[in-house]
Formats: sequence, structure tokens, C-alpha cells
Amino acid sequence: MTIFKKIINKEVPADIVYEDEFCMAFKDIHPKAPTHVLIIPKKEIPSMAEVAPEDKEILGHLLLKAAEVAEQLGLKEKGYRLVINTRQHGGQEVPHLHIHILGGRPLKWPPG
Ligand code: AMP
Repeated sequence: MTIFKKIINKEVPADIVYEDEFCMAFKDIHPKAPTHVLIIPKKEIPSMAEVAPEDKEILGHLLLKAAEVAEQLGLKEKGYRLVINTRQHGGQEVPHLHIHILGGRPLKWPPG
């Protein structure tokens, strides 16, 4: 079981900023920006490489909620970045789909 599934099950504590039937958002334990939150589906999808047409609603829900959570965190005016690391070359460490919400400082482009 992944660490994120344990967070969903409340077996591992997390600083949860949003939760509903389909997703959960919590603070990243090793923040890479002043604000760094992860939003994850409760469904166990390993990565973007495994999404299926049936995941259309949950993927749309995640993006809409990411925007709402970013606003709730005070990031809307100046902006923020959403990142989905995918598999090895994407730098994905936890094999449970997640969107990073990063903000609170200007972010460089392109990423390394
Ligand atoms: P990724 O490299 O895209 O798979 O990102 C995984 C992220 O999960 C990293 O930024 C980690 O800091 C974060 N992370 C790992 N374990 C935890 C945890 N228990 N609570 C919160 N964030 C975590």
C-alpha cells in the first residue's frame, strides 16, 4: 500500500486542507515552495500513464478542486503551478496519482 493510500485511510497523519468523496488535498511533507500542497484522487490510480477513459470525471474533478484549493490557499491572484510527475523520467516517487500545487514565490521555467 502506498503512503498516500495510508493517508486516505487516516492510518498516517497529514495536514489535510481539503477532502471530499473523491479526493483529498494535504500539505507536502517536504515543501519545495512557500505553499506546497498535493491533491490526490481517493481512487488508486498509479500515475497519468495508467489513466483510463472511465477516469474522465475524477480527473476533471481533481483539476477543478486544485483551482479551488489554490484560491483557498491565497494563490489565485499571483498565480501558482500545477505539476504531475509521471513515472521515472517525470521524477515520480509515490505511485499514486497526485497533482502538486506550488506557489508563494515566482517559479522558474523550464524545470530541471
Ligand atoms: P512525486 O515526486 O511527484 O511522486 O511527489 C511525491 C511527494 O510526496 C514529494 O514531494 C514528497 O515530499 C511528498 N510526500 C511523501 N510522503 C509524504 C507524506 N507522508 N505526507 C506528505 N507528503 C509526502
